Amino acid sequence: MSNRTDLLTANARYAATFTHGDLPAPPARHIAILTCMDARLDPAKFLGLSEGEAHVIRNAGGRANPDALNALVISQQYLGTNEVIVIHHTRCGMTGLRDEAVQKLLTERFGGSIKPQQYGGFDDLAQSVRDDVATIRADARIPDDLPISGFIYDVETGRLTEVD
Ligand SMILES: [Zn+2]
Repeated sequence: MSNRTDLLTANARYAATFTHGDLPAPPARHIAILTCMDARLDPAKFLGLSEGEAHVIRNAGGRANPDALNALVISQQYLGTNEVIVIHHTRCGMTGLRDEAVQKLLTERFGGSIKPQQYGGFDDLAQSVRDDVATIRADARIPDDLPISGFIYDVETGRLTEVD
């Protein structure tokens, strides 16, 4: 069976006992979480979240890039969230990633027409969390008094550690 078939089978099973059809769009716990897309991270599980409780914004590295910032602004201004938690993690694939290396790979695979981008690689994990908290804080569209905290998730223990 293909992956796709397995996923659709799992969805049919999920929908058969689904009971959350009346949830409103605004997250019940008024929180937005920015984290990495890494497959080892399951924020709903490691934070004890259920459907309807939080926005989880994910990208490569959990970086506060322009798309993530836009999502946070919509989350706050239209959907009532009033707190942000940034979570990066150990053994992240974005560690040491260089934009030039990505560009080189893409040019080899797709030719010279690929526009250079910033992919958000970093060298220092804790500093990457601090940088993203500061980037969110500095955005003029984010309220000055918004609580924003940063954490590192350890993929070997499942534990979160706050970054000062
Ligand atoms: Zn990652």
